[in-house]
Amino acid sequence: MKILVLNCGSSSIKYRLFDNDITIARGVVEKIGEEVSLFSHYSEGVEIKKQPIKVPDHTRGIELVLNTLVDKGVIHDYGEIDAIGHRVVHGGEEFKSSVLIDDRVMRTLYACIPFAPLHNPHNIKGIESCKQILPNVPQVAVFDTAFHQTMGPVAFLYAIPYHYYEKYGLRRYGFHGTSHYYVSNRAAELMGQPMSKLKMITAHLGNGCSVAAIKFGKVVDTSMGFTPLEGLVMGTRSGDIDPAIVTFLIRKERLSPDEVDSILNKRSGLLGISGISNDMRQLMDASNKGNERARLAIDIFAYRVKKYISAYAGVLGGVDAIVFTAGIGENAPLVRKKILEGLEFMGIQLDDELNKCMVGGREGIISKPDAKVKLFVIPTNEELVIARETRKIVEQLRG
Ligand code: ADP
Repeated sequence: MKILVLNCGSSSIKYRLFDNDITIARGVVEKIGEEVSLFSHYSEGVEIKKQPIKVPDHTRGIELVLNTLVDKGVIHDYGEIDAIGHRVVHGGEEFKSSVLIDDRVMRTLYACIPFAPLHNPHNIKGIESCKQILPNVPQVAVFDTAFHQTMGPVAFLYAIPYHYYEKYGLRRYGFHGTSHYYVSNRAAELMGQPMSKLKMITAHLGNGCSVAAIKFGKVVDTSMGFTPLEGLVMGTRSGDIDPAIVTFLIRKERLSPDEVDSILNKRSGLLGISGISNDMRQLMDASNKGNERARLAIDIFAYRVKKYISAYAGVLGGVDAIVFTAGIGENAPLVRKKILEGLEFMGIQLDDELNKCMVGGREGIISKPDAKVKLFVIPTNEELVIARETRKIVEQLRG
């Protein structure tokens, strides 16, 4: 079965075409709507790298992708695509799992826009464009929030007046769910044990960062909240802060809501502390050259992850495995070491040699052989989860 997986952002479309679990084409359209857009495509024997091209909107972008798939011989015609799986960032409380998109689902997706105003409108744009171009192809929405919907109210409610939850849905939702789902299931596979017997902590450390506590296959807590701003220190996001800082800054600097939003989402985190960059590689370089603020940014980043891992070990009542994934989690042995240092009392024993080797997309164990807690590095694969979820739903549809 051929499934097209789409991740539509404000000015980009990332795509991957799967034939069952195998990727047969992938690429990205960037700078959609700008004077010059950029198109990259990879399939067998074909490599198009950042080709300048005019793409005024998402519909034209999806047409470009489909026409390229045909032109390059990946498919013979559009009819070969069995289904389309869309990454949708926010599914609110309504969507606890992936769904076949119909008119009712579309109405609910529109209703979820206030929860993720920067993401959901573009995800919806992608769905609408596909409906226009391929009206008879089933489309499935796979939500970043869905895997976390197993959290109970003890974990998801904020200690603010309860009626704000009832009135606005102000609660913790959590994000990166597809990634946490993939790496936790993959770790269980590598351990040769069912999820139903395992307590795990998964750390997705990329530009955005989150940790999840997963007990017997169900998320019991996660670090991102109402929005992806809560929790860990991230590239440009602050993560947890005292909420009183917001009102302090508003009063002292006469900031507007948008300005506060921009400070906490775009000018904080690793960038805010270091004053140099949001990129962990650049910070490690700068720190090696003696830059104190860069070193401090890395230390604060690792300390926050350590705090969450320790807290979640308590929440879970013990932990069998910890998994690292995404850009930093997959590629930065030094950061993993800093995070795990001092947690030996919990049965964590990092194997330094294995840790150093596990970079550049490698998958494997980094704990000592007899350690109580297994430590893994697992490259995430959100697209594969979206493709599998889409296939499952379409197979049910076909009976
Ligand atoms: P996104 O959340 O945008 O998908 P990624 O998962 O690609 O981000 O992660 C980006 C982060 O990973 C950046 O901070 C980047 O510096 C970091 N990263 C990527 N490669 C390395 C590396 N070799 N060593 C350290 N950090 C890395």
